[in-house]
Amino acid sequence: MIIDCHAHFEPRMLAADQVIAKMDAAGVDRIVFIPAMNDPLPHTPELLLKAVRVLLRAGARPVVEAVHRHTIRDPGFVEVSGEKVAIYPQPDNASVAALVAENPERFASWIFLNPAHDPDVLDTLERWRHEPGMIGVKLHPHWHDWELERAWPLLARCEELGLPVLIHFGFGPRGDFREMCERFPRLTVISAHAGFPFFQALWKHADRYPNLHVDLSSPYLSERLVRATVARMGAHRCLYGSDAPYGFHEDDGSYDYREILGWVGRLNVSSTELDGILGARFAELTAR
Ligand SMILES: [Zn+2]
Repeated sequence: MIIDCHAHFEPRMLAADQVIAKMDAAGVDRIVFIPAMNDPLPHTPELLLKAVRVLLRAGARPVVEAVHRHTIRDPGFVEVSGEKVAIYPQPDNASVAALVAENPERFASWIFLNPAHDPDVLDTLERWRHEPGMIGVKLHPHWHDWELERAWPLLARCEELGLPVLIHFGFGPRGDFREMCERFPRLTVISAHAGFPFFQALWKHADRYPNLHVDLSSPYLSERLVRATVARMGAHRCLYGSDAPYGFHEDDGSYDYREILGWVGRLNVSSTELDGILGARFAELTAR
């Protein structure tokens, strides 16, 4: 059973029927979508992504943070490859909820919330959490630009409800994963992109915070980085994700599922661990 726990629903790049065709071709059983929080992003050059990986692993986080702050200096936009792309303060949960309701066998969804822009965020959670297939909460303090303490009441509620949280951490107080894991020890925390922007600075806390997990999605990573992540975090903390439709492309420019599945398939782990990474562990974490 292969579950992609981190893909974006972006029909302007890949319509639902194209997604299903790709899932069938790649053997992906289920996708957990992230509702759209931005206009479609242009392609990020691989050289830039590689530079970011090298800088972060070398501990040059302040440099990467300064570049990042430059890309979001105009509120409501992010600059990618010289293009200004709109960021939505309120992600579009409704269209994914409708899609999941139509196709519950193949799709589920994260409820994407923004506590910095939504004074009634607990009500918004209530609104969506009863919809079928809305299995947890997605947060993006990095691009929505908020400090984690703004989410404490929301995270307390997720912990109480047993809802996992997929979070793309930001820098500094926007990414204080230690405080988050300590405050909410029963909350399942999934750090997007192998712990970006911390990587090994996050992995080394795996033993201390049994509730901390990572997904292996996105072109932010490389095969080498994925191997290092699994070695440090342990296979049972690592979850397959793609970041589709962003990242790796077939000749026609559409998302290529083979790349990250290839990295995972070539990991030096047991077949039980491999099954766990590919979906069994995620199914356990989201069983309620
Ligand atoms: Zn993503």
